[in-house]
Amino acid sequence: MTTAPAISVQKTTHSRIPETDFNNLEFGKYISDHMLMSDWAKGEWSEPVIVPFGELRMTPAILALHYGQAIFEGMKAFRTVDGSINIFRIRKHHDRLNKSLDRMCMPAIPYDMFVQTLHALVELDRNWVPRSDGSSLYIRPVVFASESRLGVKVSDQYKFVILTSPVGPYYNKPFRLKVEGHYTRTAEGGTGFAKCAGNYGGAFYPTQLAKKEGFDQVLWTDHKEHKYIDEVGMMNVMFVFNGKLVTPKLNTAILDGITRDSIVTLAREAGLPIEERRISIDDLEEGFKNKTLTEAFGCGTAAVVAPIAVINIRGIDYAFPPVEPNSIQQQMKKKLLEIRTGAAPDSHNWNYLIR
Ligand SMILES: *Cc1c(COP(=O)(O)O)cnc(C)c1O
Repeated sequence: MTTAPAISVQKTTHSRIPETDFNNLEFGKYISDHMLMSDWAKGEWSEPVIVPFGELRMTPAILALHYGQAIFEGMKAFRTVDGSINIFRIRKHHDRLNKSLDRMCMPAIPYDMFVQTLHALVELDRNWVPRSDGSSLYIRPVVFASESRLGVKVSDQYKFVILTSPVGPYYNKPFRLKVEGHYTRTAEGGTGFAKCAGNYGGAFYPTQLAKKEGFDQVLWTDHKEHKYIDEVGMMNVMFVFNGKLVTPKLNTAILDGITRDSIVTLAREAGLPIEERRISIDDLEEGFKNKTLTEAFGCGTAAVVAPIAVINIRGIDYAFPPVEPNSIQQQMKKKLLEIRTGAAPDSHNWNYLIR
């Protein structure tokens, strides 16, 4: 499991570690020294190579820029208590990567290639994995159509790249949200379940409008009635009603988040009542009014758990009390971190350790 795979490596002659402020890691600001690359052409992926992070040379006619075949993943590697490096939930990320690729008519990445390339890249740049509590190495695999041609078609060529970036703990102040009653991020039958670039491009505009009104993010609702909750910003969303953890049941408009899945699994295991179901805006409003709705939070790889302070429903601000240290969201966050850092047993085989 931990033998270094043979991948051709061209090492940088100038590491940027000395000029990186590890005490002040703004999310995504620093990119590690190396990147992994492979090209799809003539029906196969080329031998992956690791090279210094830098520019790519391509023409402005690459199909990804025009017709949007571009997908990505977001994963993390952590330092464990015994000094290993742990890449979290590779299998589930790989599974989702291939679902996204399939939806966008792009070629699958074989599991072994995914594991070996991640291993080789993270091992080479292991000094980029930060050491402070709650920090990690963010891993960004991306695949895009690289054929240079203007006609509308499914590309015959793709580029697979993996970048990594050291990130600190995500101190986000609790979100102010607006329930989106007009725009949609995606629709059932669309690409919402795929981690494709276009889902983000289309979500910026309604989010910018909400920001102008003093909110941080929007709470996305279904495209038909704008009645049922899908996600929050670019995270999954969870609520606590009467001590029960409740999250929207997955459909094709909701991304199958790995943080969501991990929290659902750990909550079940801990015997916490949990329900995956449709949640309406009316359920939220009623929960605020009769005080049964006590917590709400976003969950995703970047933030892990992001507390929600206010939800604006049809023009009215409903506020949550401050997050308590023993709140369900804090308990889940702690549990997840303990598994990732090897402080608690990895009973689900979620960890991939590089020793
Ligand atoms: C990536 C993403 C999430 C969170 O998924 P994780 O696997 O937990 O990081 C949720 N919603 C959207 C739209 C996303 O792109």
